Amino acid sequence: MSRFLSDNYKNLVPYVPGEQVNVKVIKLNTNESPFPPSPKVKEVLSEEVIDKLNLYSDPELKELTAAIAKQFDVTPDMVFCGNGSDDVLAFAIMGFCGAGGKLCCPEISYGFYPVYADLFGVELEQIPLADDFSINVEDYIGKNKNIVIANPNAPTGLALSFDDVERIVSSNPDNLVIMDEAYMAFCNESCMELVKKYPNLLVTRTFSKSHSLAGLRVGFGIAQKEIIEDLNKLKFSFNPYNINTLSVKAAAAAIADNEYYDDKISQIVATREKVQLQLRELGFTCTDSKSNFIFAASDRIPASELAAELRKRNILVRYFNKAKIDNYLRITVGSAEDMQTLVSEISAILEERK
Ligand code: PMP
Repeated sequence: MSRFLSDNYKNLVPYVPGEQVNVKVIKLNTNESPFPPSPKVKEVLSEEVIDKLNLYSDPELKELTAAIAKQFDVTPDMVFCGNGSDDVLAFAIMGFCGAGGKLCCPEISYGFYPVYADLFGVELEQIPLADDFSINVEDYIGKNKNIVIANPNAPTGLALSFDDVERIVSSNPDNLVIMDEAYMAFCNESCMELVKKYPNLLVTRTFSKSHSLAGLRVGFGIAQKEIIEDLNKLKFSFNPYNINTLSVKAAAAAIADNEYYDDKISQIVATREKVQLQLRELGFTCTDSKSNFIFAASDRIPASELAAELRKRNILVRYFNKAKIDNYLRITVGSAEDMQTLVSEISAILEERK
């Protein structure tokens, strides 16, 4: 640390992203898609677009917001785009809960929520999950605090039903409820249609998981236009050009290609279900994940050791050294082939220990 860092940030504990590697491994540690993006993405990244990179990107992101609005049957003034959904979450937590505001989230959830709360001086309550890792909906009814919930939750993969989300949103009319739907494409319980009914709901989504564009860094939030105006006010006070021209073009092309992505998403869901069954047959406890990852524990081997053994075999998975989940691994659902390699390597590791 330098002598110059403001006292406000001296104790900040940053978010730790999953590792990115250059060597060839089976990479199941950061919930990326095993598929390349839609071929339409390549088509739009033309020389003509590259030749215009001397110009700033459109700060209003008209092309991208229009494409997203069309997909979700909302008006473009209900869409806010960010440099990844992390950017959208950051603006929302800063703007609606910042400096002395109150926020609550599940105790076991996306690791960035506490980091943003800390960064923006938000008082955060982390609400414990039930023993089976489910979210107890009653804990969020009439909470009188802003709320952020990942649905499906990460790293547990468990999802709240549409009706439960509506109960939470409708019982907190004076607070913002952020539903982080980063993994919702793999689940089908989206609360997106509720944004038209409830002025206190913001739903965030990302291109990083279902749309195979993690490297592009694009996410978005959908809410009533007053919320979007507020987010834009913050963005235009911080970084008006938060998405570059290439990302705008690529994401707008991707979001329109339902045929391509519906097929990839169903393949991932089918592989998830198959591998969860196979792991259960090997004695693992797996949550009923509705996401593009599996959350699994075995009483035959500690999770940290299994992660280390898999790494020796060039398979990366995510281990969280955190109370209550430190015997679980979060395993991204990769290609059907890579997942079969994973299952055979896990059986071999367990055999060796017999
Ligand atoms: N929400 C959740 C629950 C996540 O797991 C992630 C991925 N780390 C994000 C949001 C952010 O994703 P991105 O910034 O790539 O859109």
